[in-house]
Amino acid sequence: MNILAIESSCDETSAAVITNGKICSNVVATQLIHTQYGGVVPELASRAHQQHILPVVNNALNDAKVTKKDLDAIAFTKGPGLLGALLVGTSFAKSMALGLHIPLIEINHMQAHVLAHFIDDPKPAFPFLCLTVSGGHTQIVKVTGPLEMEIIGETKDDAVGEAFDKTAKLLDLPYPGGPLIDKYAALGNPNAYPFPLPEMPGLDFSFSGIKTSFMYFLQKQVRENPDFISENINDICASIQFTLVDILLKKLKKASRETGIREIAIAGGVSANSGLRKSLLELGEKLGWKVYIPAFEYCTDNAAMIAMAAHYKFEAEDFTDQTVSPMARMEF
Ligand code: ATP
Ligand code: MG
Ligand code: FE
Repeated sequence: MNILAIESSCDETSAAVITNGKICSNVVATQLIHTQYGGVVPELASRAHQQHILPVVNNALNDAKVTKKDLDAIAFTKGPGLLGALLVGTSFAKSMALGLHIPLIEINHMQAHVLAHFIDDPKPAFPFLCLTVSGGHTQIVKVTGPLEMEIIGETKDDAVGEAFDKTAKLLDLPYPGGPLIDKYAALGNPNAYPFPLPEMPGLDFSFSGIKTSFMYFLQKQVRENPDFISENINDICASIQFTLVDILLKKLKKASRETGIREIAIAGGVSANSGLRKSLLELGEKLGWKVYIPAFEYCTDNAAMIAMAAHYKFEAEDFTDQTVSPMARMEF
């Protein structure tokens, strides 16, 4: 049983083939055009998806040594994401399913980030908590089955990935700044500059305040010393990363305490962050958690995770039809 999966929610055009629950290929084309604009430009993303989708799909089929005739279903990201970008993957998947007379499977991108944990061993046991941290979302998800998930905490303003990218922009680092903050932070002192933690009730997050206080902090320091950023880049990055990770882990700890769940996973682009990975492993050791961290290639956007989600939906015979449209915002 072979499923082709297509991801086009943001700035990665990706296709993967899954055969009987095993990923056989995963091709990702990252759009570099956005770097010069300091962020993803939606219209340019849609056009780049149109350019990339055919070669990416062909490469995914070739890598898996599968032809179109061998396919049993086509899966695609329905949302959430940029509407124009999603429309490219959705239309492509719909036409292909129509032409091949095979079923169509719609996938929620955020559920797929969580299900990336089922690509490789070790796999978390149900129920588990997943902290999904990406460019557009920050969620604590209680997962009771492959397709049974509930968001028990989320950000009320910016996503943590956005906080990484926006603080990086203030430091004049190119987009996406998250990985660069990570790189400089490894060489700096995380306690060099303390930043106030937001006060958010329950399991919800807020990251807009920290971004603003970071901006005022930088403005003041640069007024006093124009070379402040270049002289202290490592310490600045280490301090901001420490603060963002601290906010995430405090809530995760609270969620574990409240639910009694000690199977803990992280997912999404920010789960590639080495500070988060290290602190989570330390905290898990201390609290007796079993911690699950996906391979780097399955943290940021990829179609393998879409394919994994599609595998479970195929088993559940959960199909969609040609009337389906993408959705920029989408609940579980
Ligand atoms: P969403 O999944 O919410 O729709 P997205 O698909 O754009 O958003 P991902 O591709 O999952 O998000 O993640 C991209 C984000 O991950 C960016 O904000 C990027 O800066 C961040 N990121 C990637 N690597 C790292 C890292 N090592 N440290 C911190 N942030 C990182
Ligand atoms: Mg991306
Ligand atoms: Fe994503």
